[in-house]
Amino acid sequence: MLRMLVITAHPDDEAGNFGGSLCLYHDRGVETCVLCLTPGQAATHRGGARSDQELALIRRQEFAASCEILKVSRGVVLDYPDGHLHRQDLYRVVCALVLHIRQFRPDVMLTFGPDGGVTAHTDHAMASVFTNLAFHWAGHSNRFTEQLHGQITPHRTQKLYHATANFNLPGRQPVTASPPTTVIEIGEYLETKIAAFRAHKSQSPLWPIFEDHVRKREKKELFHLEASLNSVPMNRETDLFQGVSGA
Ligand SMILES: [Zn+2]
Repeated sequence: MLRMLVITAHPDDEAGNFGGSLCLYHDRGVETCVLCLTPGQAATHRGGARSDQELALIRRQEFAASCEILKVSRGVVLDYPDGHLHRQDLYRVVCALVLHIRQFRPDVMLTFGPDGGVTAHTDHAMASVFTNLAFHWAGHSNRFTEQLHGQITPHRTQKLYHATANFNLPGRQPVTASPPTTVIEIGEYLETKIAAFRAHKSQSPLWPIFEDHVRKREKKELFHLEASLNSVPMNRETDLFQGVSGA
């Protein structure tokens, strides 16, 4: 069975940025996993939570509900501090991600670009930095050698993609995005993506803006192929698993 790992920063990123592709590839028989680095406790919209801890708890439940709608096989929320990923110890975060990669053993990985995605959020940019290093180092037998025993062996994921976009959001910092190499037609999965975003009830003030925005942008998700085991001449792709052995 082919596997796809998506690494995000906040609960709702999985729906907003990757939701269509998560559904599409699940229905094509791919086992999907989402690893979310923070429980989103620093969000502007607090859903009535009285503390960061309470909001984190609410958002973990909302993430689980969203993953169920998107038919994610495995959804995990880690416990790094929302809004402060740039202040975390890079080596330790990458170590944790490498272990997840060596355990789940994906064929394809998706994350944000270092631009931070359309919102230019620093946590998104850091998710990208951590994931890029983890993607490469998970395959090296001389990295995090203390992990390497029993079933845990080095793992080379075949492809790494960054989510990208061909527009800037008004009112946000300007983004210099990676050029799209891969266009995924999500079709009617757009509705599932919107439903999953709406599972994040604490973020309900964002729903109309999100929905309006995605409905205007056609039924597509755009990605940039950042690294690939097979360095083939680039043609515009329409499938994240194109050229993946076993696909
Ligand atoms: Zn986010």
